[in-house]
Amino acid sequence: DRLLSASVQLEDSELETSLRPKKLSEYIGQAKVKETIDIFVQAAKQRGEPLDHVLLFGPPGLGKTTLSNIIANEMGVNIRITSGPAIERQGDLAAILTNLAPGDVLFIDEIHRLSRSVEEILYPAMEDFALDIVLGKGPGARSIRLELPKFTLIGATTRAGMLASPLRDRFGIISRLEFYSTEDLAMIITRAAGILRVAIERSGAEEIARRSRGTPRIANRLLKRVRDYAQVRAAGEITAAVAAEALEFFEVDSLGLDHTDRQLLRTIIEKFNGGPVGLDTLAASISEEADTVEDVLEPFLMQLGFLARTPRGRIVTPLTYRHLGIPCQNTGSHQVEQKTLF
Ligand code: ADP
Repeated sequence: DRLLSASVQLEDSELETSLRPKKLSEYIGQAKVKETIDIFVQAAKQRGEPLDHVLLFGPPGLGKTTLSNIIANEMGVNIRITSGPAIERQGDLAAILTNLAPGDVLFIDEIHRLSRSVEEILYPAMEDFALDIVLGKGPGARSIRLELPKFTLIGATTRAGMLASPLRDRFGIISRLEFYSTEDLAMIITRAAGILRVAIERSGAEEIARRSRGTPRIANRLLKRVRDYAQVRAAGEITAAVAAEALEFFEVDSLGLDHTDRQLLRTIIEKFNGGPVGLDTLAASISEEADTVEDVLEPFLMQLGFLARTPRGRIVTPLTYRHLGIPCQNTGSHQVEQKTLF
């Protein structure tokens, strides 16, 4: 597993549970999303009604699960956590829904991965708080309607575009989580260091933050590694110098790129003269799945301005050459394309 992967890894689970903020006021950054949620939560509480269904989208590790837990906590209800792939059959969803108490939150991570048949029974559940269950097969089959408690569905997905529109339309609140700024991540790291009882300087937290790809999950994971390094190689305190040294040691560069990122960028430069190169060709050249390249590697590289998607394929930018220390000597059509982009 990549140290810089934003998806959950085995080592994360225990750490994440202890580091999760419990209240909206402790949730750092995402000002717009926080304000939206705050208004709707307060309004629902004042009316004594359950919160509208919420769809959260954004790359992994940005705090969708955390925010869902906070919403349940602020509403004073229980949360049941599951995921799209875990609900295989209609019966699985029916079992979960009929066990909810009024007002409870059901959190479905990776909701875009629900099967069609499960999605079908989810629609009336979301809209009418009812389940239509078909008993038996063939001519003798009959349908019964089960009333459900009024609940709040919180769906999480990495890309809103992957959701079928009938499903998307059934959410009253749709919020998009953004990558975090270095300042916000430094605050998250400082808070986590406090919980882990690690001494950290402000500049040390910032050094880790700059290399965390805008993602709290990665920030917390890097903090844990730097803590170990500081304990063994330095006096235990995380200064900027110790953080930089530790992260160099773990091969995380000054902007949070690792070997795989650099390999992807180098491949575009060295094998495809800076691009454009199609996604599938690029993925095959670095022996990765196209989905991984598109969902995991590219968003952050695009955010840094190192990579652009054009109608003719992926291209790197002058910034990429500078960061990798490669002289920019490409000529021809795509140079023009880059000029128009930047
Ligand atoms: P997602 O569900 O989007 O993949 P998580 O909610 O599991 O992400 O967040 C990963 C970890 O990052 C959490 O354990 C939490 O400690 C931390 N985290 C995420 N967002 C925030 C935030 N806004 N403030 C503080 N910590 C956060």
